[in-house]
Amino acid sequence: MKALLLRAANTPFEMTEVPDPVAGPGEAVARVLACGSGLTIQHVKAGRNAARFPLIIGHEIAGEIVAVGAGVTGLAAGDGVTAYYYLNCGHCRWCLASLEPLCVNSGGNVGRDCDGGYAEYIKLPAHIFIKLPRGLDYKAHPAEIGVITDALATPYKVLKRARIKAGETVAVFGAGGGLGIHQVMMAKWARARVIAVDMAADKFEACRKAGADEVVDASRCDVAAALLDLTHGQGIDVAIDYVSASSTLEAGARALGRRGRLVTLGGAGQPFRVSAMDLLLKEQEVLGSRYVTRAEILETLELVARGEVWPLVSDIRPLAEAEALHQRLERGEVIGRAALLIG
Ligand SMILES: [Zn+2]
Repeated sequence: MKALLLRAANTPFEMTEVPDPVAGPGEAVARVLACGSGLTIQHVKAGRNAARFPLIIGHEIAGEIVAVGAGVTGLAAGDGVTAYYYLNCGHCRWCLASLEPLCVNSGGNVGRDCDGGYAEYIKLPAHIFIKLPRGLDYKAHPAEIGVITDALATPYKVLKRARIKAGETVAVFGAGGGLGIHQVMMAKWARARVIAVDMAADKFEACRKAGADEVVDASRCDVAAALLDLTHGQGIDVAIDYVSASSTLEAGARALGRRGRLVTLGGAGQPFRVSAMDLLLKEQEVLGSRYVTRAEILETLELVARGEVWPLVSDIRPLAEAEALHQRLERGEVIGRAALLIG
């Protein structure tokens, strides 16, 4: 099969022929129709996130099962599928509690610890594939359907993690990024008032289109003060931080009102200072939110199938243009998600 191979970190893709994957016991192979191209995998390509090489990256797939190995039930050739990003075990206490991102026996990530979706076929443990619900036309929109598993489902999970309710004020830090803009979209879907915070002014128009009621340019003002202004001094209900630098986390914490929740996910993951007195007197919470459960992916797929939300994929290209696409990603030029069309 044709595949985009990375021989080492920080090297260009090599379009090459590799043996077709063969499904062993408990495994399945899918033909890849499209695969999302986000910063998470660009971090691997650039060597900022460790991985084993040679490697085929990519995890946000839409595909179709072509073969299943011995012992596989519930999955058959012809099934439309996407993939879970974590190689969770399926058997530990956390997997059994449907909290798969916390799996204690995790085998790592698709496209990082095993070969991923930048190829004509992908082989995974069968339980990592998630069958697409009826009503999703994955053949007509493989790029959009492919990115749901991360770009849209991760923000959907935050709605639950932070218990976001209609009418609350939600600030999204890093709103112009691939996940951030989908968080704006999902918070608006949840009928929150949404404030987009970013330094990339060229992304503000897209943030507004995705549902932001206001935007705050973090390069031009004191963000916490701006958020307090926009809430008449009351503070925001939820800060969702996709940047998670000390400065953004501290700005988010300072902007919280009573019963405010600060959510950190991804980004720099830096340490930060928060006032214990504010946590106490205003009954605030600091939360981490890690990827998404399998059930939440199904829920997000259903939302898209019902036409309530639609992923923003602004740059779709053939495999041969992957290098140019990743250069755009590295420069922060992509609005929403990009994707490769493969099958
Ligand atoms: Zn587990």
